[in-house]
Amino acid sequence: MLNNNCRLYQSELDMDLGLKGKNVLVTGATGGIGLVTVRKFIEEGAFVIAHYHHNTAEAERLQHEYSLSILTLGADLSDEIQVQEMFTTISQKVGKIDILVCNAGIWPKADETVAQMSFKRWKRTQAVNLDSVFLCCRAFFRQLQTQIRESANIILIGSTAAIFGEAGHLDYSASKAALTYGFTKTLKNEIVKYARLGRVNTICPGWVKTPMSEDALADTKGVKKVLQTIPMRKIAQAEDIALSILSLASDVLSGHISGEILSVAGGMEGRILFSPTEIDPDTAF
Ligand code: NAD
Repeated sequence: MLNNNCRLYQSELDMDLGLKGKNVLVTGATGGIGLVTVRKFIEEGAFVIAHYHHNTAEAERLQHEYSLSILTLGADLSDEIQVQEMFTTISQKVGKIDILVCNAGIWPKADETVAQMSFKRWKRTQAVNLDSVFLCCRAFFRQLQTQIRESANIILIGSTAAIFGEAGHLDYSASKAALTYGFTKTLKNEIVKYARLGRVNTICPGWVKTPMSEDALADTKGVKKVLQTIPMRKIAQAEDIALSILSLASDVLSGHISGEILSVAGGMEGRILFSPTEIDPDTAF
């Protein structure tokens, strides 16, 4: 089902984005944002290495649908050995990667203050959201070291939780802040050692309708709460994020953009912390 943005894209963006023949690794490719991103890259003529974790059925469907334009590979990206094996398989079967999209991630649903949060939850979130990106970027850089080239591109998927914080989700917010700021600002200066025109950017989605957010957005109360700080009063579709990923991946559209943090969040201003009934004007001054 196409939303309005996609209709616009198909009818008006009749240009070559320069993605034909590029090898693109998308992590978390069977999830909400990942799946649409894979389809968009293939529509633009790229070859996609679609990483998945548990969703073998969706990976098989993709392999069947796109056969010659895709290689699906399963791995737990928080595991160093599995990441190394995935990159070895890519080298053997595909050769070099041109564009790395680090999209896989988790958002533990339970609202827990730092006082309530277990160390186990904290460590798991860092392992999936942060260690995985370190391991994938390191493996990509090691490939670049042996195959010096003109251009290379990394797109990280952060979150507005990195920018505004997220009460009840310190684990998530901290992991995404590390990617958004630490990784982007450091790796943009390292990638050019191996690829003269190499680029690293991060996209920070706000609320997006995907399996990750479906419980939080299941009732109108939740939707109304999150839209109070979003001028466009709209929940993003996965296509909104996928099209921004394509735009940053394209050297034609974004060839001089590196080290940037792009919010795709309908203009989000921050978080609603309290309902009016929770605020006592008598204690406000
Ligand atoms: P999703 O749950 O549909 O997809 C997440 C993907 O990550 C899945 O494919 C899953 O298999 C993969 N994954 C989870 N654990 C993994 C592991 N250990 N190893 C490898 N892969 C693993 O969610 P989505 O909304 O498509 O999220 C994609 C990205 O966008 C995530 O990084 C998420 O944090 C970010 N994001 C989403 C929203 C939102 O509202 N949906 C908002 C801001 C940021």
